Amino acid sequence: MHVLVIGAGIIGVTTAYELCQRGFKVTVLDRRPGVAQEASYGNAGVISTAYAGPWAQPGMPGRILGQVLRSASPVIFRPTFDPAQWRWLARWLGECRLQRFRINKQRMQRLAEYSRSVLHELRRRHSIDYEQTQGWLQLFRTESDLARARPSIEVLSQAGMPHRLLDAAKCRALEPALVDGTPLAGGLHLPEEETGNCAYFAHRIKDLAAAGGVDFRFGTRVTRLAIEGGRVASVATSAGAIAADALVLAAGADSGQLLRGTGVRLPLYPVKGYSLTARVTRHEFAPLTSVMDEAYKVAITRMGNRLRIAGTAELGTRRLALRDSALGTLLRVVRDWFPGAADYRQARPWVGARPMLPDGPPALGSTPVANLFVNLGHGSTGWAMACGSARVVADIVAGAKPQIDLDGLTIERFVRRGKA
Ligand SMILES: Cc1cc2nc3c(=O)[nH]c(=O)nc-3n(C[C@H](O)[C@H](O)[C@H](O)COP(=O)(O)OP(=O)(O)OC[C@H]3O[C@@H](n4cnc5c(N)ncnc54)[C@H](O)[C@@H]3O)c2cc1C
Repeated sequence: MHVLVIGAGIIGVTTAYELCQRGFKVTVLDRRPGVAQEASYGNAGVISTAYAGPWAQPGMPGRILGQVLRSASPVIFRPTFDPAQWRWLARWLGECRLQRFRINKQRMQRLAEYSRSVLHELRRRHSIDYEQTQGWLQLFRTESDLARARPSIEVLSQAGMPHRLLDAAKCRALEPALVDGTPLAGGLHLPEEETGNCAYFAHRIKDLAAAGGVDFRFGTRVTRLAIEGGRVASVATSAGAIAADALVLAAGADSGQLLRGTGVRLPLYPVKGYSLTARVTRHEFAPLTSVMDEAYKVAITRMGNRLRIAGTAELGTRRLALRDSALGTLLRVVRDWFPGAADYRQARPWVGARPMLPDGPPALGSTPVANLFVNLGHGSTGWAMACGSARVVADIVAGAKPQIDLDGLTIERFVRRGKA
């Protein structure tokens, strides 16, 4: 059986690998010249089960409204005339209730936990090095930042996930390079969480998949899925029509455009984010592992001899342009905590779009179109969920039972709203 995968980001590449492991003939199509050149390129690198959670959470609507159009805010909403944006927002608002947040976070954590076990298995089997670090420290500048994190901490306690609340002195003992001058009310230490370079990992998995026979066709833009008799008959591409027995759509934030005309509707919207990557010049002033400034939602991740500073969530524009004030916020935060670690003027800027569904979890598996499968909508946690999502989708394509419960992780919740 021949399976086409559209998209060679972390989701498409891991899916192709898993499909190839099951003996399928696999072709991957991507408009870019190589793997992981969009959202999977410059992300923060966090692979966290505990931190995996929806953007839709209690307190978030007020936070966004209070900061509408403020360019230095960590969360930015730009109202547009796009009806899809308003539909997305309406659904998102409903998902910000505490009860919905708990359900969505648990769903995401179920997948993230499975994903991490699959990642570790692949790491062991293939000795993959992707600049991984162990441990993760969330920093709260004020008591109110800490109070906002309480619902998430409750979910961690209920799930039995290892975590410790630390006072400022203990945070500094853990990360000695944190400067003294910046206000710090406390921190949440997650010892089992990890970070790693998503693009490095994607390249290694691509090499393994290619060695297993997967055909990667780069520079190939898919323009349309041709549906005949309730099935995808072929896909129209910049290199002509290509037919296959089944198709997995993993085209990130642009997947919605390719679903047009298939009858499958998903409320997928891009949420823009930025990063800077700077070479560490003074190791004694740099973090040992990785921290997250909760007030600004900026992650500072150690990747080998570099720091990746990433954050900002910007809803309302599909244009991927760098914005100086967003990059300025990243710079300000890293200078607040680790001013002497790197020459930040030389940092490499990047912008990407998180493929976000309003409730948080991705959509995995079958669709009402018989041979069309999806692996998309991973939002802010696509790297953390990639390996597990890929295995789940490959199992479904193969007609096998996935190893985790898929409640709340499929397209069903958008098709039949009563069941969400
Ligand atoms: C600032 C920022 C920080 C983040 N930090 C983290 C983090 O710390 N941890 C985490 O887990 N996640 C993080 N994320 C989210 C994560 O990066 C994404 O969820 C993940 O990369 C999505 O992967 P993807 O493969 O679905 O999308 P992409 O990587 O965008 O890949 C989609 C691919 O599809 C291709 N494509 C699209 N349309 C077409 C078409 N028509 N024809 C052919 N090819 C097409 C594109 O070229 C692209 O290669 C972050 C994101 C951002 C923006």
